[in-house]
Amino acid sequence: MRLTPDVCVVGAGSGGLVVAAGAAQLGLDVVLIERGEMGGDCLNFGCVPSKALIAAARAAQAQRSGSAFGIAAVEPRVDFARVMDHVAETIAAIAPNDSVERFEKLGVRVLKEQARFAARTELLAGPHRIRSKRIVLATGSRPAVPPIPGLAEAPYLTNETIFANRTLPSHLIAIGGGPIGLELAQAFRRLGARVTVLEAMSFLAKDDPELSTVVLQHLMDEGVELRAGAKIVDGTAVILDGGELIDGSHLLVATGRTPTVDGLDLDKAGIAHTPHSITVDSGLRTTNRNVWAIGDCNGLYAFTHMAGYEASLFIRGALFRAPARLDHSIVPWTTYTDPELAQVGLSEQAARAQHGDGIKVVRWPFADNDRARTERVNDGLVKAIADRRGRILGAAIVGPNAGELIQPWCLALSRRLKMSAMASFVPPYPTLGEASKRAAGSYFTEALFGARTRKLVRFLARLPVW
Ligand SMILES: Cc1cc2nc3c(=O)[nH]c(=O)nc-3n(C[C@H](O)[C@H](O)[C@H](O)COP(=O)(O)OP(=O)(O)OC[C@H]3O[C@@H](n4cnc5c(N)ncnc54)[C@H](O)[C@@H]3O)c2cc1C
Repeated sequence: MRLTPDVCVVGAGSGGLVVAAGAAQLGLDVVLIERGEMGGDCLNFGCVPSKALIAAARAAQAQRSGSAFGIAAVEPRVDFARVMDHVAETIAAIAPNDSVERFEKLGVRVLKEQARFAARTELLAGPHRIRSKRIVLATGSRPAVPPIPGLAEAPYLTNETIFANRTLPSHLIAIGGGPIGLELAQAFRRLGARVTVLEAMSFLAKDDPELSTVVLQHLMDEGVELRAGAKIVDGTAVILDGGELIDGSHLLVATGRTPTVDGLDLDKAGIAHTPHSITVDSGLRTTNRNVWAIGDCNGLYAFTHMAGYEASLFIRGALFRAPARLDHSIVPWTTYTDPELAQVGLSEQAARAQHGDGIKVVRWPFADNDRARTERVNDGLVKAIADRRGRILGAAIVGPNAGELIQPWCLALSRRLKMSAMASFVPPYPTLGEASKRAAGSYFTEALFGARTRKLVRFLARLPVW
C-alpha cells in the first residue's frame, strides 16, 4: 500500500512517540513505524524496569537500615520472582500510554514493521511504501558489547534480557561501571546477590569525581565489590589480565550503547552516518534535508529526556519553522543509585576548560542541612559553578533524591539565571532543597560580610533610625 503522510516517524520509543503525538495533535497526517515493542527501550528494557527494580531494592534496604533510628535491623526475605512481577506490572501499568491503541486514537497510523529506505523520501515497511517530505528517525540504541575474547560465546545478560530473569543471581558480575552497571549492581546487592563490578577505566567517568566518590563509597559500604582498571582477557570464564578468575553465576554486560543505524539502508537516502551515529546538524537534520534523527540514534545523548527535548526541537523547527537548535549547555542527567548523583550543565572541570580560572565554585554539604540530619544523611553535597558575572554554568548534587533536587538548577540553566536568583527564593523549611539556596547564597558570602560591606553597615548604623 502507498502512503503519503505529512510526517513519517521510525521508532516508537521516547523520541518517536513525542513527535508522532505532537504532529498528530497539530492535525497532521502521521505514520509511525515500529518493528518491536511500543515504548522502545525506556519502557521495556531501560528506565522503567530499572527504576522499578531499584524501588524494590530500596524497600529491602530499608529493613536493614533502621537501627540508627531505634528500629531493629532485619535481613529482608526477598521473593525475587515476586520482585520481577512488580517490575513487569509497572511496565504493564505504563504501557497503555505508549500503545498502538492510544496512538491510533490520536489519529496516528501505526505500522508494526521494520522500516528501511528505498529512496531519499521513501521508506519501505512490510507491504507499505511510504513517501514523506518529513521523515524522523528515532531508532534508539542497543547494548554495546566490548570485543573481549570469548565474551560472544559466554552466556551473558544485557538490559534487554536481565529484566526477564526470574532467578536471583548468587553472584552477579557486571562489566561496566557507568550509570546502568552501578544502578543494577546496587539493586541486585540490596536484593541479596553478591555483586562484583568490573570497569576497565574508572567508575562513573562522566561525573565529577568529588561527587561520584560519595556514591562509590556507599556502594562499597553495602558490599558491592568494585574493581576499577579491570582488564578482562577471557570473557568465557571472566579472567583478568593478572590471571585472576572471577567466578560468578550471572554475567551482565553494561558497557555503553551503540546507536541503531543498521538495517535502515541509510545510504539509499544519502544520509551520512558512522557505525556509531547518524550525523545531524544543530537542528537535528541529517545530510538529507527531508530527514531528521533524534534520540539515541544520533549518538549525542542517550537519555529519555533528551529524546523528548530533541523531538520538541523537530516540532518547533520543522513543523512551526521556528528557530530550533540543540542547546548543549542545559543537559541534565541522573544516576539513580542511592545516593543519587545528578548533574546539569558544565562540571567544574569542563567549566575551567571553557572559562579558565575566572569561575567560582560554591558548595553546600548536606551535613549542614537540618532535614538531612533528621534523615541521618551525613554526606553528600550541592556544588554549583558560575562565571565571573554570577551566571550559572552548572550544578551537581549527590544525595537523596538528587534527581528531583537538581530541577531548580535545570530551570536556572535553561533561563540563563544568575546565582542571585537561586539565592533569593524562599524554600520551605526543613527541606533538602534548602541546600541549593544555601550553596547559591555562599557565592555572595565574601562580598556580603567583607570589610567594605561591614564598614558601610557600621556607618549606616550611626545614622538616625528612619
Ligand atoms: C537499563 C537502562 C536504564 C536507563 N535509564 C534511564 C533513565 O533513568 N533516564 C533516562 O533519561 N534514560 C535512561 N535510559 C536511556 C533511555 O532508555 C534511552 O535514552 C531512550 O529510550 C532513547 O529513546 P529513543 O527514542 O532514542 O530510542 P528507543 O526508546 O530505544 O526507541 C527506538 C525504537 O525504534 C525501533 N526501531 C529501530 N530500528 C527500527 C527500524 N528500522 N524500523 C522500525 N523500528 C525500528 C526500536 O524497536 C525501538 O522500539 C536507560 C537505558 C537503559 C538501557
